[in-house]
Amino acid sequence: MRCEEFPDASMAYLDGEMEAEARRRFEEHLAACPACRAELDALRRVKEVTAGMRLADREDRDWELYWGRVYNRMERGAGWILLSLGAIVVLVFGAYHAFLSIWSDASLPAVIRIGIGCALLGIVILFVSVARQRLYAWVRDPYRRVQR
Ligand SMILES: [Zn+2]
Repeated sequence: MRCEEFPDASMAYLDGEMEAEARRRFEEHLAACPACRAELDALRRVKEVTAGMRLADREDRDWELYWGRVYNRMERGAGWILLSLGAIVVLVFGAYHAFLSIWSDASLPAVIRIGIGCALLGIVILFVSVARQRLYAWVRDPYRRVQR
């Protein structure tokens, strides 16, 4: 049996596209022919390398997707923080001025003035607390909630 009987046999053999009978005859030939064994080995290595490259490509794409999502999350986190900070500044400023004008209004009874002052302070504290919780959650796990 000669090598010429097996044109492109190595490729078909590695791809598993060989009939059982042709496969058996090719294996018989391989056992007796170092040239075809060497060709088969070389081809197998090429296939392994290209398969590895395809895998690396896929991993690159996965990472791009992953970091894209992380970035999205961080962007939204930053948006939330800025919104919270801005709202706090406006709220504190407004509450402070409302508090001052009510406090200096001598026509209101002291109890009402204290009550309104407490309510305004309470709103600010609640807002700061919620904003702090958001900031804390964002700083602690910007990645864990990213779904792969
Ligand atoms: Zn041969």
